[in-house]
Amino acid sequence: MKIFPIFLDLREQSVLVVGGGAMAARRCAAITQAGGRARVVAETLSEAFEDCHDFDHQARAFAPDDLDGARLVFVATEDEELNQRVSSLAIARGIPVNVADRLKLCSFIMPSIVNRSPVVVAVSSGGEAPIVSRLLRAQLETRIPRRLGQLAAFAGGLRKRIKQAIPDSTRRRRFWEKVTDGPVGDYVLAGQTDDAHRLLEKILSAESGDNAAPNLGEVYLVGGGPGDPDLLTFRALRLMQQADVVLHDRLVPDAILDLVRRDAERVFVGKRRGEHALTQESISQLLVDLARKGKRVLRLKGGDPFTFGRGGEEIETLASQDIPFQVVPGITAANGCAAYAGIPLTHRDHAQSCIFVTGHTKDGKLDLNWQTLVQPKQTVVVYMGLAAAGEIIALLMSHGADPTTPAAVVDNGTRDNQQIIDGTLNDLADKIASANLEGPAILIVGGVVTLRDKLSWFAPNQAGGSLTHATE
Ligand code: SAH
Repeated sequence: MKIFPIFLDLREQSVLVVGGGAMAARRCAAITQAGGRARVVAETLSEAFEDCHDFDHQARAFAPDDLDGARLVFVATEDEELNQRVSSLAIARGIPVNVADRLKLCSFIMPSIVNRSPVVVAVSSGGEAPIVSRLLRAQLETRIPRRLGQLAAFAGGLRKRIKQAIPDSTRRRRFWEKVTDGPVGDYVLAGQTDDAHRLLEKILSAESGDNAAPNLGEVYLVGGGPGDPDLLTFRALRLMQQADVVLHDRLVPDAILDLVRRDAERVFVGKRRGEHALTQESISQLLVDLARKGKRVLRLKGGDPFTFGRGGEEIETLASQDIPFQVVPGITAANGCAAYAGIPLTHRDHAQSCIFVTGHTKDGKLDLNWQTLVQPKQTVVVYMGLAAAGEIIALLMSHGADPTTPAAVVDNGTRDNQQIIDGTLNDLADKIASANLEGPAILIVGGVVTLRDKLSWFAPNQAGGSLTHATE
């Protein structure tokens, strides 16, 4: 190890900053954030200092006396001779010094940090390759929950009490593991602090009585997005990697399932050809049963769980049975397909509003408010409309939609085999019929479809899909 990592208590300490540019301002802000007293010596301050508060500014050139009483020194000037002079003076006086971008003049370097105060992760490459530590930092940012600091504070606030309630240190450690790495911790990370406290009290009273603490499972209802794994949210990915069981259906492609914790049990609850899908009630019951066994259950849905996803129905039972759960939104098919097809859903010239409807038929009938759907200057997105596409298009026209209205079908949107067919209401049904699409697919109707010619950017894998207009 070339450099020795420490975390320094800067509260009320005087820290000298030499320089008035953007880097000096960043240093100044970091010092005050850590409770230190920043003294900036620079003839002028750049605009970047507008964001800095509570610091002392000496508008003049650096003088050796400025080092008096300094706990640390930061130098960030363009003046190489000055950089060297401050550095050697500080080193001679035993004050740790950092000169921006001049490793040789530094006696300490600044790490890349991930701040989840009070938890702070610092990464350094020893000054060899700051780009690598920045890269690692970016990865950590995505993996470390945003509210980890709140979890640390939550646990910190309870330490004394738990120590009294559970004197045995091994039992106490297990208790903490169960609390922070279980539903209580997940509640805190999801911002549900009241629920976290309530559940903690429940576990604590079971723990301090004779009963063992209840076996606590939980359910994550997670939206997996339209198919491209890159469109998962950070939270979805984290929960996918901590689940014990995953319930998934046909809409979730393998590319996403592959990201679930390797040894998690997988349960397919969708419809396979010739087989019946589990009913909604049996899926809900399965979620309850698994959670009662103490499992962390991930219900992974395509797109967004609350958009034509029956997510609400699935968790109603959980709520009524007091099973801890959380809901993670996903990018819904309309948004994913629109972006990857180069079709903005709204546009000042073409559509001031956008409507999502389902084209799923109930008892063989489409039950939609056609008058609303044929209004001008709006975009209509039809989910589950592939099978009935011909009928939907005909009904739009018979209710007054202009047959020249642009329309498109996006099949397997955002995936390697994405295909797009576009045209007008007049010819789209025929094009769909001859295209042999597999679905899932959405139908987009409205003037915005024409923007695709200019805005199309996504090039799916040629083997499965087509680059531009499938029918041309
Ligand atoms: N909850 C999901 C929708 C479930 S309904 C969401 O928010 O996206 C299933 C319908 O979603 C499919 O019939 C299809 O219309 C649409 N869909 C889902 N994924 C899709 C994709 N990758 N490309 C096109 N349509 C998709």
